[in-house]
Amino acid sequence: MNRKLKAFYLAGRIAMLRKASILLAIYFLLFSLGVSYADIFVISRETANIRSQPTTTSSILQKAHKGDWFIYLGNSPDNKWRKIERPDGSEGWIYYTLGRVEDENYLDNLSTASDIASSGSEFDITRLEIHAINVRQGDSTMIVARGNNEKASILFDAGKPGRGNKFVVPYLKSLGISDLTFVISSHHDSDHTGGLDEVLTYVPGDPDDYDIKLTGKAFATLDEVSSSQRKQYEEYENSVKTQTGEQVLVLIPPTYLPLARGITIQAVTGGGQYIDRETNSVIDLEPTDANARSIGLLVTYGKFKFFVAGDLGGEEKHKYIENKVAPHVGNIDVLRVSHHGSDTSTQEPFLSVVKPEVAIISTGGDNNYGHPRKSVIQRLKQSNPQIKIYQTDEGDQGSQYKALVSFEGSVSGNIVIKTD
Ligand SMILES: [Zn+2]
Repeated sequence: MNRKLKAFYLAGRIAMLRKASILLAIYFLLFSLGVSYADIFVISRETANIRSQPTTTSSILQKAHKGDWFIYLGNSPDNKWRKIERPDGSEGWIYYTLGRVEDENYLDNLSTASDIASSGSEFDITRLEIHAINVRQGDSTMIVARGNNEKASILFDAGKPGRGNKFVVPYLKSLGISDLTFVISSHHDSDHTGGLDEVLTYVPGDPDDYDIKLTGKAFATLDEVSSSQRKQYEEYENSVKTQTGEQVLVLIPPTYLPLARGITIQAVTGGGQYIDRETNSVIDLEPTDANARSIGLLVTYGKFKFFVAGDLGGEEKHKYIENKVAPHVGNIDVLRVSHHGSDTSTQEPFLSVVKPEVAIISTGGDNNYGHPRKSVIQRLKQSNPQIKIYQTDEGDQGSQYKALVSFEGSVSGNIVIKTD
């Protein structure tokens, strides 16, 4: 080997060693931070295409199915595609909405529809209660099924951070509710998810005891968690993991939640998917708007029907999902008005189908969004001149939208609907 070549060879070795030592340092850093090397991507859709490149036009390598999982290798530069390793060691790409990145512990807790089906209660419902908890700006709904000696409940959202401790926990205690069957975050925004961890970790005295116990499962929608949502979302995940040892599960249509015998509770939207009545199938609209990914629950008890759907919207940016799910929802008795009475929800095509008799708007004087909008109140009245509209709190009093805000809804604080 001549001298020049030898120098070149040595430089290459040193560069390689340096690279190896940097990689080793990164490895130990990640290891000490508790980052798992065995993150997996779990398919949440019935079928999902694994593609050769991160584009919808590239060739399909394989079709994957719900519950299949692959070793997760990273994201495409636009974060829309997940790079995965297939069982034969080759690589592929899956669109992000088709599944979810989980750590390896997920495999131990992988929940199937039958797990959910067996996680509910088994008693005959004799009365249904809907509680719209006044959390000011934000949203929180309790669904309580009562039997002769038993009860089961769903907490759907818990307002902003701080509102779980301040409003939701005292309210649950006033009802004598010390356990929840299911907890659901409609979508990742903090005015819905922010208070959930406080409800699940509320411990006044004994640190080994939880005042509010989760006996069944905790759910969230299928969506990316943005940087502004991350803190609240992780606190929710951690509170669930600490109390139950389980993961927060994704809730997408057409899943049923078994609260009690005699009541039907179905996720009819979630993750941008909805149940299409005409084709009797689940259609994925793949919206980029986070509100359009809200979980919508349809509650049916005898002839009574109730719909609650977080901040679901009915405009183009929502891919009109609220209007599209309306035929499956059908004529309802009580509507939890979506998005705090924003003009972008509760539009005419939706209302002309669901025609509620009672509308409940969760809003607060501390909102600066112009909620609830006059236009929404007008549309509700047009859809049913006899409609009764209740608000949990006064609306926006001082923002630039003041002239557009309705002050005519009757302010009621916590609102309770009980079936007879
Ligand atoms: Zn909201």
